[in-house]
Amino acid sequence: MRKHYYVKLVAHDTWGHEMHVENCDCLSEHPDAEHVGVFSHSREAIVEARMRYTNTYGCKECCPDCSPA
Ligand SMILES: [Zn+2]
Repeated sequence: MRKHYYVKLVAHDTWGHEMHVENCDCLSEHPDAEHVGVFSHSREAIVEARMRYTNTYGCKECCPDCSPA
């Protein structure tokens, strides 16, 4: 299923910009995020996100495949 992905504009000190799926709870807490696009998998989305912000990583809740933790 294709989903909308977003990257937070405010970067984490260590890891950089956190990427989320549209319905992640983290996004509702911090709505200040940039739309990355519509993708079928977080691994595709993070490739696009890293072209804009090289230090993008996946949220451990909604993008665990791309999470550093
Ligand atoms: Zn998330």
